[in-house]
Amino acid sequence: MRLRSVVVADFRNVRSVRIEPGERFNLLYGLNGQGKTNLLEAIHLLGSPRSFRTARLPELVRHGEQRAQILGRVESGSVHSTLRLVVEAAGRKVEIDGKAVHKASDLHGKLNSVVFSPDDTGMVRMGPESRRRYLDRAVYMGDIGYLHSWHSYQRILKQRNHLLKNSDRTGLDIWTERLAETGAEVIERRLAFVALLDGKLQKYYAAIAGVSETTRLSYAPDGVLSTERNRIRDDLLELFKRHQKSDERYGTTSAGPHRDDLTLELNDRPLKAFGSQGQQKSYVLALKMAEMDNLKEIFGEAPLLLLDDMSSELDARRNHNLMEFLTTREIQVFITTTERSPALLAAAPHCAVFRVEDGNLTFEGS
Ligand code: ATP
Ligand code: MG
Repeated sequence: MRLRSVVVADFRNVRSVRIEPGERFNLLYGLNGQGKTNLLEAIHLLGSPRSFRTARLPELVRHGEQRAQILGRVESGSVHSTLRLVVEAAGRKVEIDGKAVHKASDLHGKLNSVVFSPDDTGMVRMGPESRRRYLDRAVYMGDIGYLHSWHSYQRILKQRNHLLKNSDRTGLDIWTERLAETGAEVIERRLAFVALLDGKLQKYYAAIAGVSETTRLSYAPDGVLSTERNRIRDDLLELFKRHQKSDERYGTTSAGPHRDDLTLELNDRPLKAFGSQGQQKSYVLALKMAEMDNLKEIFGEAPLLLLDDMSSELDARRNHNLMEFLTTREIQVFITTTERSPALLAAAPHCAVFRVEDGNLTFEGS
């Protein structure tokens, strides 16, 4: 997949910028607070249902303006398309080749990008919720059906919790069964995804770290022992029944896929407790590489890679390994840094260089 050109207007601190990215490597450099991450955010947002930084649309619109616009020309295989996104406080509108689209599924896969930003390592250190958010988003990227299962589950969960709070609990059993049914769909898809990713993780971690450390990513849904949908459903039903008395007391569903967690391990120990900052970052980067690989297998085209604040935390050797590795892949990469790093430019052949200053962009050659 290639982004051939992108126009960003009234998006955050960007008034009007046009980028014609290089085929492979693109460096956006500039001092803090100039708009580098904003530009990556715009590129990512063009192809995805929400920003990787915020769920609040008004934040995206340049102060004092009514709407932000992003327009991009995308090449995928031999297909060219034009995507247009308009963001207003009230909502977002998407057009593909001049035609309005209303369903998330119409945009799905049109412009895939995997983002790696310093915030992503927070997923290692923070609570289960941040890992679930990562998981749900990552599964959805390659599996449009997941969004449907996930929304159904959330809707039914709300209903069941509502009943649990009532004194009249007529119909609780039916909602519990439905919850187990959709919960099984969610879990089945998550399990398949995590198994795929775990199978790829080791290779990418080794490529970045340059040392042999063992990685493991696993997902053990609470109360579930099977990987087959009908049996997952039975296990979930058991789980819900087991918690029913206390759920009735507290008025909420206390166990299930909405409470599950991912386990990240390095050398058979929890990454959170025993991984250094650099090891945690390498691990999450390797996860993103595995995700890219997975998307390439699904869509037949590698997604864009957006590496925000590339040089922070990794040592020179790991940075070098990462660049070496990326040069062997047919992907379009956007990297942001605070300096025009000679080491990075030496490692990235034909890198297009852009300076970002106060929301403006200057092309400095490639
Ligand atoms: P760093 O190197 O610190 O990560 P950066 O170049 O990535 O910096 P960005 O996060 O892209 O910086 O841009 C931050 C700037 O954008 C801030 O100065 C912020 O005030 C401004 N900004 C954010 N949202 C808006 C908005 N809606 N309207 C105007 N300016 C905004
Ligand atoms: Mg930034």
